[in-house]
Formats: sequence, C-alpha cells, structure tokens
Amino acid sequence: MRRSWRAPRPFVLESADAVAHQALFRRPGEIDLAVVVAAHGGVLVHGRLDRGEGAMLRTPAGAVLTVDERLEGTPHGLFIAAHEAGHLVLHPDVGLSAWCRVVSGSFFQREIDASDFGSRVLTPGPLVEAWLRAAEATLGAHGLTLHVARAFADVFRVSLPVALLRLVARVEEPLAAVCTREGVVRWWSATNAFPFDLTMRFALGRAAHARTSEALARHVAHGEPELVPAEAWTKHRRARGATLVEHSVRFEGGAPADGALTLLRARAG
Ligand SMILES: [Zn+2]
Repeated sequence: MRRSWRAPRPFVLESADAVAHQALFRRPGEIDLAVVVAAHGGVLVHGRLDRGEGAMLRTPAGAVLTVDERLEGTPHGLFIAAHEAGHLVLHPDVGLSAWCRVVSGSFFQREIDASDFGSRVLTPGPLVEAWLRAAEATLGAHGLTLHVARAFADVFRVSLPVALLRLVARVEEPLAAVCTREGVVRWWSATNAFPFDLTMRFALGRAAHARTSEALARHVAHGEPELVPAEAWTKHRRARGATLVEHSVRFEGGAPADGALTLLRARAG
C-alpha cells in the first residue's frame, strides 16, 4: 500500500505470508483457514453467534475459533475466519475470549492487526505475484479496473474492497480506491503515481456524489467510467481543472448498504 488512510504494520503482513508459506498454499483455491488454525493448535467451527461475527476461545488445551454460521461459505465469512486466525497467531496473550464485529470497524490496534493479517493470509504475497503475472496481458491493455478487481476477488474468494486494496498496493498506475458513505470518504488508498491527496471524512462535491449515486443506481460498475472534476474529490490545489475517471460499485460484504466503492484514475494529459 503506497499512501492510504492507514498503513498495515509490516510484521503483521510478514507473519501472514509466513503462515501461508508454511501451510504450503500454492494456489488461491488451496488457502484453507482450518489448516492455518490447526497448525497453531486450534480448531475452526461455525456456530450461531449473537455478540459478534467471530469469536476466539483460548484454553490451556487449545483454541476454538467460531465464525457465525450465517456467514459460512461467503467471502465475508472467510475474512472473519482469517481475522480470528490473526488473533490466534498474533496475540498469544489474549485472554480466554475475544468477540469480534469486524464490519463496524475498530480503532483497537489488535483488531486492526487481526484484520490486516486476515486480508493478507487470504492473498499471500507470492500467490498475488503469480496472479498478476498471469493477468499481465489484461492489465497491460486496460490497467486495473473494477472488472479486474472482481476477477481477483473471485479467484481469491475475498470481498471486492479487499481485492481492490490489495491490487492498488501492487500497480504503478495513477489510481486511488475510495470507500464513501453518503458521499463522505471513509477510507482510501492511492498509488504513488496518483497525483492528489485524499482525506478521511472529506465530503465529496455534490456533482461527484450525485454521479456516484447515479452510477450505483444504474449498476454501471463494469460499464463506462464517468469523468469527474478532480476538485470534487480533493482539496488539493493541483486538482483544479484536472479530471478523474471514476468507476463505482455498491459496497458489499456486510458493509453499510449506502456505501460505495470507487476507483479513481487520474487522466493523462
Ligand atoms: Zn477481532
């Protein structure tokens, strides 16, 4: 991740890559969190949870990681399992139980680390590099689009936001991924080549918000991108007179229903 609303801690990402390597995951389809959990003395189960989406119970005999059964088989359920695995691997000192509600977000460092671990263990470094090499022709022709991110998400069984954040961290194009809710920036990540700074809680210009909403209403996520004045997205002085190409898609995976995920590309020239 080049520039973003926050940076994952390097040791967390290294730990997730190491765990995936030790588990001998050589293809995205081989990533099995039950294996990761078992290798660290735990068992992964699904059950009804009312206090959170995931929970960890650690005892002297081992650990039980539970994911809400209503999420079983979904990318979000996998992410919760990976988040709990993050607690198991990273936080040996955590007490008897940890209840996690990941969607609502958390400012606690442990929760952030567990989520960063979770995203990474589902998209390990070497496997992402291999996927990028295979996708080189598509990326060379069209660059990173939401369509490409969707393909990545399907292969790695992650949500579109996780896929987009992972890919934005790996390409050189002038791109930014932005999550907004009711036209207000919730999080963002940009490549170094993206020429503007984005700001948390920045309220989009009315035009950009309207276009984003309109695009969502028409479900044009994979269709034609929209041209948006750059100053609608940023207070950056250089943005004046510049344009951005925008794709938007309704946020998914348990996130707020009124959220939107947008991929911005600075237009050349
Ligand atoms: Zn947690």
